[in-house]
Order: sequence, then C-alpha cells, then structure tokens
Amino acid sequence: MRDGYQKARTRMVEEQLIPRGIVDPNVLAAMAAVPRHFFVEEALRPQAYGDFPLPIGEGQTISQPYIVALMTQLLELKKTDRVLEIGTGCGYQSAILAAICRRVYTVERIKPLLARARRNFDRLQLFNILSKADDGTAGWAEHAPFDAIIVTAGGPRIPQPLVEQLADPGTMVIPVGDRDSQALTVIKKAEGEISSRVAEYVRFVKLVGAHGWQSE
Ligand code: SAH
Repeated sequence: MRDGYQKARTRMVEEQLIPRGIVDPNVLAAMAAVPRHFFVEEALRPQAYGDFPLPIGEGQTISQPYIVALMTQLLELKKTDRVLEIGTGCGYQSAILAAICRRVYTVERIKPLLARARRNFDRLQLFNILSKADDGTAGWAEHAPFDAIIVTAGGPRIPQPLVEQLADPGTMVIPVGDRDSQALTVIKKAEGEISSRVAEYVRFVKLVGAHGWQSE
C-alpha cells in the first residue's frame, strides 16, 4: 500500500522486529505491508509505528508492534491455515493474520469496537475475515477446528473450549496469568497430546468471559 507511512513501517520492521528475533518472512512481509496507522484514531497516527501499545477506546489497547509480530510468528502459520482470534479490538492483528493465511475468524465482546474493526476490514478489502460480537472464551464452535488460535487478552487460565477447538496438529498462543503480568503461553496439539511452554512475559488487557475473568 502506498501511503505517507511506508518509511515508518520499514523502520519499525528493521529496528523493532528483526533485531528482536522476528525471522518468519511472511510475518515480516505482513508487518511491512499492513497500515497500522489506519487502525488508530487520527490524533494517534503519527505514533502508530512507535515501540509501544496505543489506546483504541473502551479502555482497550492495540499491542506494541513487536508483540503482534511475536505472537503471529509463534503460530507458525501456513498459507492454507484457518485461524481463530479472540479479541478483535481495532482489527490490526486480524489484518496481519489475514495477510498471511486463508481465513481469519475473530471474536470481540465489545460491540462498538467490532463495528469499527469491520469498517476497517471493508475499507482495506480484507474479505477473508469473518467476525462476530460474542464471548470468545467459548471459541467459535461452528467453524472449528482451527489450525491456530490467538488470544489477544490475558486470562487466569486456558479456556477449555479453545483447547477443544484447536486442530491436531495445531498451535495456540495465549497470555495466562494475573492482572498485572501474564506468561505468553504456546500450546501445541500433536497426535492427541497437548504440550505447553512460555515464550515471554507480557501485560495484556483482561480476557473477560465465562472462561476468563468474571469482570473488568
Ligand atoms: N488484537 C487486538 C487487541 C485488542 S485488546 C488489536 O489488534 O487491536 C484485546 C481485546 O480483547 C479488547 O478489545 C477486548 O474487548 C477483547 N476481549 C476481552 N475479553 C474478550 C472475550 N471474552 N471475547 C472476545 N473479546 C474479548
């Protein structure tokens, strides 16, 4: 896409992502192409490519570029994959996923945020994203199983429906912990076995729902 922020995006990739170990060529290409400034309000656009999270309204935030890239890389996506995202927010992470794989299913509990994300998808002509307003801790059973699942809000535990809706083989990335700090956990399902490891420590907004925190 040609826009006034192309240079800022290239710098973001070269200064924030590559030096910290983002190597997946599909992830780097998506981060270099998707117009992040487009997903934040006008006044914040000059800061859109900075090395920090930004507010997106309703008390929620868009993650720092490095965290978006890291979580995407941890999913080890293939072009044919179908991915479930919990926590659409402004839709930036969904757009990154949509640039890499076949289909993205994304769930957001706050309706005005989802409405705005949908407008962004339309304007960017991202037709391989399907979204709904709901409690994503229950997953999206009608479209399961998913090759990859990404949860972009932090919960106290791993929601069991998401484990069940993960394909075999499949990978899930989810921040798990208390309100102030969470372990970015990578869960793999392979030949019927579940394994998990911690990739990083992060701080996300709360995953609120039946299989998450009970309140904001
Ligand atoms: N991926 C987003 C990050 C948004 S912040 C982006 O790129 O902008 C996390 C989002 O998760 C918030 O919008 C919050 O409302 C949403 N969320 C929290 N709990 C949820 C739940 N149970 N189901 C769906 N969305 C949830």
